[in-house]
Amino acid sequence: MSFLRRVLAASAAGCVVLSAACFVPVQAQDYPTRAITMVVPFAAGGPTDVIARTVAGRMSRTLGQPIVIENAVGAGGTTATARVARAPNDGYTVIVGHMGTHAAAVPLYPNLAYHPEHDFEPVALIATVPILILARKDFPPRTLAEFIDYARANTDQINMAHAGVGSVSHVTCLLLNSFLSINPTGVPFSGTGPAMKALESGKVDYMCDQIVNAVPPIAAGNVKAYAVASRARSPVLPDVPTTREAGLPALKIQAWNAIFAPKDTPAPIVARLNEAVSSALDDRDVRAELLRLGSLIPGPAERGPKALAGLVKSEIARWTPLLQTAAK
Ligand code: ASP
Repeated sequence: MSFLRRVLAASAAGCVVLSAACFVPVQAQDYPTRAITMVVPFAAGGPTDVIARTVAGRMSRTLGQPIVIENAVGAGGTTATARVARAPNDGYTVIVGHMGTHAAAVPLYPNLAYHPEHDFEPVALIATVPILILARKDFPPRTLAEFIDYARANTDQINMAHAGVGSVSHVTCLLLNSFLSINPTGVPFSGTGPAMKALESGKVDYMCDQIVNAVPPIAAGNVKAYAVASRARSPVLPDVPTTREAGLPALKIQAWNAIFAPKDTPAPIVARLNEAVSSALDDRDVRAELLRLGSLIPGPAERGPKALAGLVKSEIARWTPLLQTAAK
């Protein structure tokens, strides 16, 4: 039941709506009084999951209640996102969305069952994340230039792993493919955690993924990275060239992860969750872990709901024309 409906039901049951007793459960100072469910719309072990778990532990200490991570997969993260859009707006169900679920999915799903801007309260940006072009370790091309030639010559034979239509891995590779005019076979997974396992075992050829998922398998020599689609090299992968250095300057993308609550979640609850994210991002151990995995930590000005609302708006505006062209 929605927050509003619960308040109305409480008042109908004889409780005076403005009395403290009626508002106790939703007052910021009392919230939370029980466990919070943080929905991760992808498989466990992938980048969204890892980022969520990294901050959730620290958030839970700040909030004094457990945070239960629920991995609910399907349709590039949009199935779970639609479910959270309809969840009670009481602060006990939130979602870790990203550039795919809350921006790029909009032009790719004509019947998307939610709108990122209208059906959610933005809570906090957690991380911005560089994107890598990766391949199985024995894929013939050794550099991005060789990959471009090889992919063009073998477009019908190669395949690309992704986390479902509209996911970050899908849309970033879609853009790459459109720049190269290639049309490989797409192989969808429930997240890039399992997709990375398939890349490591050589079952798929290449993938575009967030850096947090890729540092350990690159370090172990299980996959190779052709380029990072950022302005500068990542300090955790100093040998991987940028797309500009490697000859594909047009491909410049940065993913991000953020927490969203259902629309009309009361502002004091959103503020409480936002404070918990912000103190997690200021925590020494959380920062060290996020940085170790190559993600970038937003500064205080980027973390707030207003800044996140602006990011969602600008990302939808950015991805819509790009994908209308790339997905043709
Ligand atoms: N971040 C991945 C993607 O959207 C999915 C995941 O986190 O597993 O491609």
